[in-house]
Amino acid sequence: MTKPRVAILATGGTIAGSAASDTATTGYKAGALGVEALLSGVPAVRKVAEVTGEQIASLDSKDMDGATWLKLAARCNELLAGDTDGIVITHGTDTLEETAYFLHLTVHSRKPVVLTGSMRPATALSADGPMNLLNAVGLAAEPEAAGRGVLVCLNDQIDSARHVTKAHTTATSTFKSPGLGALGYMNDGHPAFYSKVQRCHTYESEFEAEGLQELPYVKIIYGHADDDALFVDAAIAAGARGIVYAGTGNGSIHRRAEAALARASQAGIIVVRSSRTGCGAVLPGEQSYLDAHFLQGDTLNPQKCRVLLQLALTRTRDPRAIQQMFYKY
Ligand code: ASP
Repeated sequence: MTKPRVAILATGGTIAGSAASDTATTGYKAGALGVEALLSGVPAVRKVAEVTGEQIASLDSKDMDGATWLKLAARCNELLAGDTDGIVITHGTDTLEETAYFLHLTVHSRKPVVLTGSMRPATALSADGPMNLLNAVGLAAEPEAAGRGVLVCLNDQIDSARHVTKAHTTATSTFKSPGLGALGYMNDGHPAFYSKVQRCHTYESEFEAEGLQELPYVKIIYGHADDDALFVDAAIAAGARGIVYAGTGNGSIHRRAEAALARASQAGIIVVRSSRTGCGAVLPGEQSYLDAHFLQGDTLNPQKCRVLLQLALTRTRDPRAIQQMFYKY
């Protein structure tokens, strides 16, 4: 029987990390190993699928950037339009959720795209990378994984790119989908799905990465007691086209920052309220927020609000249309 064709696109991260000793789980060099070394460490992968490897980047994912996202989206679209059955992207865990959500909105295919990584470097005792890679390839090779949007698979768990976030600094069980839950689990290399993401994605998405040279400049500002206008004014002065405010509670904004954000909105900068709580939808809240045309980020965390706002700004500057996108995606 012919095996499914799975392309592995490597971008670096701890899964490709090398440390000075097998007991070191921090202070290592992320992205040191190439895709061939990753694959040769897990020979079982070739039993599951016909795999090919490509090195897209070799980054510690704290340094991930829009140019790499555009390159990844274009390559995924190109491969999936051909005879590739599924894609696995190996990635650092720090910004994995942002890349996953970007691709969830810009890859136009029903075929599976799975992101994976690891918390322990490849050289560590009980490294989690090999099993995560094997599971991710198994998932990408599985017809049942199609049409579910971009998936994230680590620690035997399958999450949607839309819901998932890194929730622990060091634990191997770091990926969670707060309040919304995992989509399923990997059991002996095969997926068991229990739910589907409802919001639009991939083959239904209106966003195009192709043809973009760069993404609009959008900043996140983190709310706190005693907040003020400093960072909002700096974002305005720097020419930001959008600001995501990671507010307290239900996306609440300190009155001093609110006055500055109202000025930003007046100047045509799109302001999206998100929450620093880590769970739950941001609802309209105060009348003054609506009067100032601040938008609600729904259940997207601040870093994912930023991704969607960047893509939204490639289509329109109309706050009402952008708000609809926040409910659609
Ligand atoms: N700093 C690493 C990265 O995001 C962490 C990891 O891969 O887990 O590339």
